[in-house]
Amino acid sequence: MSKFVFVTGGVSSSLGKGLTASSLGRLLKCRGLRVTMCKLDPYINVDPGTLNPFEHGEVFVTDDGGETDLDLGHYERFIDENLHRDSNATTGQIYSAVIAKERRGDYLGKTVQVIPHITDEIKERVRRLGRDDVDVVIVEVGGTVGDIEIVPFLEAIRQFRREVGRDNVCYLHLTLVPFLPTAGEHKTKPTQHSVTELRSRGIQPDVIVCRSEQPFPDSLKRKISLLCDVAPEAVVSAVDAPSIYEIPLVLHAEGLDAIVCDLLRLDGPEHEADLSGWVRVLDRVNAAHEVVRVGVIGKYVNLPDAYLSVAEALRHAGFSLGARVEVEWVQAEAVTGMLAAATLDGLDAIVIPGGFGERGFEGKVASAAYAREHGVPCLGLCLGLHAMVVDYARNVAGLAGANSREMDPVTPYGVIDLMNDQLEVVEKGGTMRLGAYVARLQPGSRVAELYGEETISERHRHRYEVNPRYRGRLEEAGLVCSGVESKDNRLVEFIELREHPFWIATQAHPEFKSRPDRPHPLFSGLVACALERAQSRTPRLLDLDAVG
Ligand code: GLN
Repeated sequence: MSKFVFVTGGVSSSLGKGLTASSLGRLLKCRGLRVTMCKLDPYINVDPGTLNPFEHGEVFVTDDGGETDLDLGHYERFIDENLHRDSNATTGQIYSAVIAKERRGDYLGKTVQVIPHITDEIKERVRRLGRDDVDVVIVEVGGTVGDIEIVPFLEAIRQFRREVGRDNVCYLHLTLVPFLPTAGEHKTKPTQHSVTELRSRGIQPDVIVCRSEQPFPDSLKRKISLLCDVAPEAVVSAVDAPSIYEIPLVLHAEGLDAIVCDLLRLDGPEHEADLSGWVRVLDRVNAAHEVVRVGVIGKYVNLPDAYLSVAEALRHAGFSLGARVEVEWVQAEAVTGMLAAATLDGLDAIVIPGGFGERGFEGKVASAAYAREHGVPCLGLCLGLHAMVVDYARNVAGLAGANSREMDPVTPYGVIDLMNDQLEVVEKGGTMRLGAYVARLQPGSRVAELYGEETISERHRHRYEVNPRYRGRLEEAGLVCSGVESKDNRLVEFIELREHPFWIATQAHPEFKSRPDRPHPLFSGLVACALERAQSRTPRLLDLDAVG
């Protein structure tokens, strides 16, 4: 049967619970264990699809069309397993399911209550993840102990251990051990309080992972061990690491995976850790020296988490090419006319990422136009494709005033439009083309060459499409529609230009499938062109120096 690790957090949010859980997942995989992961989110939204990215960061999309928390992106990138919509559950989903059962009369006249009905539903969802082909399920509980919304989740995971047995469950609690400059020492009190809070819900942690900026002395570990009643070796220090890719190694050096395996009785010789694969990733990260600057022309640039997977995909591509990608966050609204040159010229490449709504769209169109006219490598993702098609329609195909109907419902040329006009959008949640769709790529096209195959699958999250009515006009004007959706043969999935170093866009979100050791071909293609541009720039500057 599967074993379960529950990860909770205390003291403060944003301590890196998702990365800690993901790193543990990776370490367990390095021990030959089959791992899956799940996030329980205490908020009431049914899924993060309706949450403003400013508030909550990106929505991570799974193959089966789940709109999930961005932590699932960390999980997939670290454990290298595709997750699914059931890998994320929110209070909203749990209550919806329970209320639907109540309406069907499933509770046979009983009063429906948080305990046992809500807690049973939570446990059932966790239990379902433990399948024959999974050794360990890591469950991260979102939020912080002490939050009102988290209480049913803590109660559910407390009960869970009773039901599946002591040796099948491990509770890992993440806290902060701050350094107080005025006192000149690290403080354990917040950790003690947080553990007390967890215990008041009936959960005694087995492992405490302590985040701190600087290493702290072993005497402090012994103090935490004594006061929080965990074994001294189960107090794990997680000092800030230079990059997120170091975290698994930091935690391994502290013995985290050993103690978890020990607690779960997974400590047989067949489960020795082999970290060589991850060390190779890290070697590549550390060897990446040549700097390339890639601009992401976005709307939510004040919260880079809104584009987390895009930034990660760019970095992964860089590692494989020995390059360190520096992401420049460019406010789309700031890119207009003359200013486009000033903003974009110094960049080695640009990405026009996905997004919703009108604000900043004209800046994205201007960026697409600038990149097209000046040979700047440019990759468009979803809304980015829309911006690039609009640019091409207006400025090359002669369709003045062309637009996406999302931005201008009365545009004379709706080159981007809703295709299923029968579908009236009455609800905002879950009404998009979501999840994996297969595309056929045009033989000999740039994208076919990059992917190295002609049938590919990518994840989607959008409503608007290239309007097939204008496809002929655009193609006559030189736009290459180099990939179409495989079943209907009509929906444009990829566009590109022949006479350009890299002006390529996709209706999909390829960023979700990039891995640290397996960069995505579109991002690799873009960063390779960016490198060339960066290298060609340096001698030019030197020449000018020589002349001067
Ligand atoms: N807003 C656009 C649409 O709904 C693009 C969505 C996106 O970029 N994810 O089609």
